[in-house]
Amino acid sequence: MQASRALFAAFPRLGESLPNIAVAALPTPVEELPSLASEIGVGRLFVKRDDLTASEYGGNKVRKLEFLLQAARERGAKEIMTFGYAGSNHCTATAIHARSAGLRSISMLTPQLATVYLRRNLLASFAAGAELNHYASARAVKIFAPFKLYQHRRRTGARPYIIPPGGSSALGTVGFVNAAFELKQQIDAGVLPEPDFIYVAFSSMGTTAGLAVGLQAAGLRTRVVAIQVVAENAASKEAAAALARKTWDLLRAIDPEFPVIDDRLPNLSIRNEFFGGEYARVTEYSISALRSFRNALKIDPELALDGTYSGKALAGLVSDATAGKLEGNTILFWNTFNSRPFWKEMLLPHYRELPKKFWRYFESELQKAENF
Ligand SMILES: *Cc1c(COP(=O)(O)O)cnc(C)c1O
Repeated sequence: MQASRALFAAFPRLGESLPNIAVAALPTPVEELPSLASEIGVGRLFVKRDDLTASEYGGNKVRKLEFLLQAARERGAKEIMTFGYAGSNHCTATAIHARSAGLRSISMLTPQLATVYLRRNLLASFAAGAELNHYASARAVKIFAPFKLYQHRRRTGARPYIIPPGGSSALGTVGFVNAAFELKQQIDAGVLPEPDFIYVAFSSMGTTAGLAVGLQAAGLRTRVVAIQVVAENAASKEAAAALARKTWDLLRAIDPEFPVIDDRLPNLSIRNEFFGGEYARVTEYSISALRSFRNALKIDPELALDGTYSGKALAGLVSDATAGKLEGNTILFWNTFNSRPFWKEMLLPHYRELPKKFWRYFESELQKAENF
C-alpha cells in the first residue's frame, strides 16, 4: 500500500509511480530546546527527531529505505547487497528493515575506528540475519562484490538488489525530498517558524542533497549547513549537486509539474572544519557539544547521539552559535542518529559468533570518549 507522505500530497503523481512502502513512522516530531538556545546564543533552537523514524531502529536511513526496499521487491530480489564502514548505521538499518520486508541483507563492510555504537550495530545486524563481510579496503570490496553477487544469484535464483553506501541513490534521496515537504507541512501547521538554517551531518550526501532539492521545491528559504564527517574525496558540494540533479531528474520525469530548482544548490554550504581528520574519530569539540545536547534532549543517554555524525554536526552548530553568528536566528538541528532501544535479542549474540574478522572491534580499546 502506498504510504501517505507530504511529497505525495503535493505531487500525487509521484505517489502513484514511485515504489514506496510505509517503513517509516512519519512525520517525525519537532522539539524546541529553549534553555539550550539561550545558553549557546541562538534565537530559537529546534530538533527534528529523525532518531524516531521507525519503532525499531530509527535514524535518517529509514527515509531512504522506504523507497529502496520496495524497489527491490518490485524487481523480484530476495536479497539486498549494501556497503559501509564496519559500524555503518545504514547497513544496520537495512538489515533490520529489509528483514521486515521479507528480504535478507548482505553487508559489505570496511575498517573504521571502534566505537560503542559500532558494537551494537554489528550484533543487531547479525541478529537480524544479515550476512556480514569484512574487507580491507573499498578497493577490495570492488573486486569481491561481483563474485559475491554471482554466488548469491546462484544460490537463490535472483540477483541481490544493490543499495549504494548510505542508501544515497537518486531514489533513496527522494526520501529527503519528502522530508523537506514534511517540514513545510509542520511550518504551515505552526509547529515551528521557518528555520533560517538546518544543521546536519554530511556523509553519503543523500540527506543533504534531498533536503536542498526539497526545500527549494517546497518554496522554503531555509539554508542547509552540512557538516562533513568523511574525507573530502568522498563528499563534496559538486558531488552533492550531481546527486541533487539526478534526484530532480527522476522526479521531473514522473511529474513534469515538479518545480524547477537551481541545481547549483545555493541554499547549501558545506563545512569541513569539524571533521577531525578521520571518519568516526571523536573530537573534543563534538564531545562537549554532545554533552549539552544529551542533557537537553529527553532521550535515553545510552542511545542519544553519536560522535561520528551527530556530534560533529552539533559541534558546528555550537561553534557558530558561540561565535555570535546565529543570534536571533531560528535553527533546526536535524537529528539523524537512531535513539530507539535495541531489543534484548538483538544484542544477544556473542561477538564470537560473528565472522572472525569482526572480533577486533570487540577486543580492541575504544576511544576515550565517554560512551559515544
Ligand atoms: C548516514 C548518517 C548521516 C549522513 O547522512 P548521509 O545521507 O549519508 O549524508 C548522518 N547521521 C547519521 C547518524 C548517519 O548514520
